[in-house]
Amino acid sequence: MLSSEFFAPTSKEVPSEAKMISHQLMLRAGMISQSASGIYCWLPLSVRVMNKITNIVCEEQDRIGANRVYFSTIQPADLWIESGRYEAYGKEMLRIKDRKDNNFLYSPTNEEQATDVFRKYVKSYRQLPLLFYQIHWKFRDEIRPRFGVMRGREFFMKDGYSFDMNFEGAQTTYRKVFKSYMKIFRRIGLTPVPVQADPGAIGGNMSHEFQILAETGESTLYYDKKLLSSTDDKPSSIFAVTDEKYDPKASPIPETELAISKGIEVGHIFYFGTKYSRPMNAFVLDENGGKVFPEMGSYGIGISRLVAAIIEASHDERGIIWPEAVSPFGITILNLHTKNEKCREIASQIYESLLSTKEVLYDDRSISVGEKLADADLIGIPYQIIIGTKKAEIGIVEFKNRKTGEIVEMSIDKAIGRFQ
Ligand code: ATP
Ligand code: MG
Repeated sequence: MLSSEFFAPTSKEVPSEAKMISHQLMLRAGMISQSASGIYCWLPLSVRVMNKITNIVCEEQDRIGANRVYFSTIQPADLWIESGRYEAYGKEMLRIKDRKDNNFLYSPTNEEQATDVFRKYVKSYRQLPLLFYQIHWKFRDEIRPRFGVMRGREFFMKDGYSFDMNFEGAQTTYRKVFKSYMKIFRRIGLTPVPVQADPGAIGGNMSHEFQILAETGESTLYYDKKLLSSTDDKPSSIFAVTDEKYDPKASPIPETELAISKGIEVGHIFYFGTKYSRPMNAFVLDENGGKVFPEMGSYGIGISRLVAAIIEASHDERGIIWPEAVSPFGITILNLHTKNEKCREIASQIYESLLSTKEVLYDDRSISVGEKLADADLIGIPYQIIIGTKKAEIGIVEFKNRKTGEIVEMSIDKAIGRFQ
C-alpha cells in the first residue's frame, strides 16, 4: 500500500476531548472519527487491526469447534419478551419500531437469538454440544460512554453461545473456551489476567473476566503474582478478583504473592444453565426420548475495546507500538527524499520485493523528513526501512525497530532478506 493512497489522517495536535492515551493516539493516528457520543467511524488503520484480531479469534475458536455465524443486528422484541429480559434490560437497549409499528431492538447481546436458532434446528442429544460465535456490532446506550472506543455505545464484539446436555458438559465447554481465550490474548501479544467474577458458586453461575493490566483501567485487580508468568490455563487455578469482592481473610492468595493493579476488561465468560433455554422452550430429546433443556454459557471479547487496550499496554511518548501479531502492516518503508531518483529506485525495489511476503506501507508522500519520521513512529508499525540520500548512493538503508528505537544500517539485499 502506498501512503499517498492510504487514508490515515494523522495529526500532531493532542485532542483536548481525549483523556486516555489510547483515545488520544487513535485520534492522532487517524484511526477513528467520532460520529456521535460513543459512536465512531473506523478508518483504515483500525480496520486492519480489527481484522488481525478477528483472524486470531476465528482461528482459535474454530480450533475448539465453534461455529461462526452472523446473528442479525436488529432483533424482534418478542424474543426478549419470551426470555423475560425485554423490560429488565432497561435503557441500555436501543428500541426501534418498524413502519408497521412492530417492536424491534438493536442487539446489545444475542442469547435469545442463539437460543431461537437452536430450538428451530436442534432436536436430539446427538447434536450436542454445540457452540456458536459471531464477531459483530453491538449497541448499548451506555449511561457514560467514555475513553473513546474503550466504552462506546456502538462497539465490535466477539460473542459466543454454548449448549450442552448437562452441567458436566457445560463445564467442559466453559474450560475449553477459557483456554482458547487465554491463547487468543497471548497471541495478540497481551498478558491476560483471568478474574473470577463470581467466586465460590460451584454448581451455580460460573463467570470469569479477562483483564489486561494498565494504569488507566477501570477495574482494580487483586491477583496472585504467579498469574503473570503462569501458562497453567485452568480456570481459577490461580486467583484474582476485583476490588469490591476482595476479602483478604477469605483469599487463597498468600500475602507475599499478592499484587494490586488496575485492569481493562477485554473478555467475559459466563455459565448460566437453563436461564434462556427453559423460558424459550428450547429442548432436545435424550436417549430415552426425555425432554432436556440444554445448559448454556456465553462468551464475549470486546474486539473494539481491545484495539484501545493494546495501545494502552504498548505505546511510548512518540506513539503506538503495535505487537507484530496485530499490526496494521508488517513493515513500513520511508523514502525520505521522494524527488531523488536513487531513493525512489531503492524504495520501489524493496517495496516490490517485500509485497509478496509482507503487508508493506510505503511512505511515498512528498512531505518533510521530520513529518515522515514522526508519522511512522505515531502509527507504530514495528519495523521501518528508512531510505535517505547519502546512504542510498552507496546502497545502504537504515533498519529501525520501532519498539527499541534501535537503528541498524544494512545493504538493500540484507534489508529485503530480513523479511523474506
Ligand atoms: P463492562 O463491565 O465493561 O460494561 P460487560 O460486563 O457489560 O462489560 P459483556 O456483556 O460481558 O460486558 O461483554 C463482553 C465484552 O465486551 C466485555 O468484556 C468488554 O470487553 C466488551 N464491552 C462491553 N461493553 C462495552 C462497551 N460499552 N464498549 C466497548 N466494549 C465493551
Ligand atoms: Mg456493561
